[in-house]
Amino acid sequence: MSDAQQPTDDGSGSEEFEPVQVFPEAEEMDLRPGADDCYKCSTCDTNCPVAEVDDEFPGPKFQGPEQWRLKRQEDHDIDESVMKCSNCMRCDNACPSEVPLSQMHNTARGEYVEENMSKFSREYWRNRLLSNYGTMARIGSKVPRLTNFMMGLTVTQVINEKLLGITSEREFPSFATETFREWWETRGGHEASRENARDARERRDDSSDDESKRVAYFHGCYSNYNTPEVGKAMVRVFEHFGYEVLVPDQRCSGTPMYANGMLDDAERAAETNVAELASAIEDGADVIASCTSCSMSLRQEYPELFDFEDTETVATHTWEALEYLRIHEDLEAELETASVDMSNFAYHAPCHARNQGLDGQTVEVLSSIDGVEAEDVGDSCSGISGTYGWKEENYETSMKIGGEMFEHMEGADAESGMTECPTCAMQMEHGTGYEIKHPLEVLSAALADSETPEATKASGEEAV
Ligand code: SF4
Ligand code: SF4
Repeated sequence: MSDAQQPTDDGSGSEEFEPVQVFPEAEEMDLRPGADDCYKCSTCDTNCPVAEVDDEFPGPKFQGPEQWRLKRQEDHDIDESVMKCSNCMRCDNACPSEVPLSQMHNTARGEYVEENMSKFSREYWRNRLLSNYGTMARIGSKVPRLTNFMMGLTVTQVINEKLLGITSEREFPSFATETFREWWETRGGHEASRENARDARERRDDSSDDESKRVAYFHGCYSNYNTPEVGKAMVRVFEHFGYEVLVPDQRCSGTPMYANGMLDDAERAAETNVAELASAIEDGADVIASCTSCSMSLRQEYPELFDFEDTETVATHTWEALEYLRIHEDLEAELETASVDMSNFAYHAPCHARNQGLDGQTVEVLSSIDGVEAEDVGDSCSGISGTYGWKEENYETSMKIGGEMFEHMEGADAESGMTECPTCAMQMEHGTGYEIKHPLEVLSAALADSETPEATKASGEEAV
């Protein structure tokens, strides 16, 4: 079992109540007990990074319990300010009364988009496009060099901003010339991984069988289309420890869709993911994610928002990659003799890693590798929050929120950055100019890169 706490969807209120169906889409949910548990302490508001820099944002207490009370008392429209919540989910952690704030925000946002946002508006289509990044990436990565060239043109950026409201201040992320899944197939897929894992177990005198060391990798969109080096590192590291890796069919985890109130899109993606991952679990695998927002989504948001047959099974079998190794392997002993020649890192723990109780592990584990120094740059939010910081109207707020992190990165004794979240990595690079690594890339360089036949391309070579 994970050491991350799975939030409950019914709060801890014990009073008897008659269910009230507040939002028509949320047929399986009644969050009234959660709303009733709020005692208005405002701790959530003081922990909200958007409210801290944007005076017009009313904060999580209003977005959650207060909107629910208003909605319950009268036929009250959801306030449009719910679209300004970045879905960082910090308020969930802050609330001493376990009010399911982000679940309330996600549900309210879905209701707002469904009932109050024009389907012909620029905002709707911009948000739909941003939240379906995986679909855009699938098309764009068919001709990665051409797409990268076109998206890099100033004229494209200006058109994107004027026409869609996507900020021209950020550079569009490059697509890799070979996706992770293409690499995986060329390498021999599951069969090759099984052979590699068996060889590794033999080297390590590990008598486990295939089934007891089997993981299903949820790579998400970004590791597949933009940073396949992260996915390759994940495969190499797990094979090094004798795990056979499966790569099930999958769609976007849904994270950008909740943040934009596109709950129907999220539900369709989740249905595929739950079915595919449940089938891998049935075959003896645990689910591993390299992106902390993806693991958060499978663990917390799926059970909060959807009710597919195997939703809970997938949630309880999902782990973040390093978390899984810390619990199932003797990482400390393994890293005692490992060494690697790398620069120092300024490490940022993503908000969604904090929500899973994973914010301390990376610095602790990686600092034990000879040649690696990792310094935690504090608990501030990076400010980009997935698609939030890509919207023209949020860019400035996003950079203000990120200011503290940029300052601490620059103050750290480090030349590179490190984080598990791909959009935090974009923001870190944008704000400081540092190259940003994923912890799995460092682990792979220390333990595994020399062991696999296709090793080792310098990270970043694949992106053009
Ligand atoms: S922290 Fe929890 S109890 Fe306090 S105001 Fe926010 S929702 Fe209510
Ligand atoms: S999810 Fe983040 S941005 Fe949204 S209300 Fe909660 S703390 Fe604020």
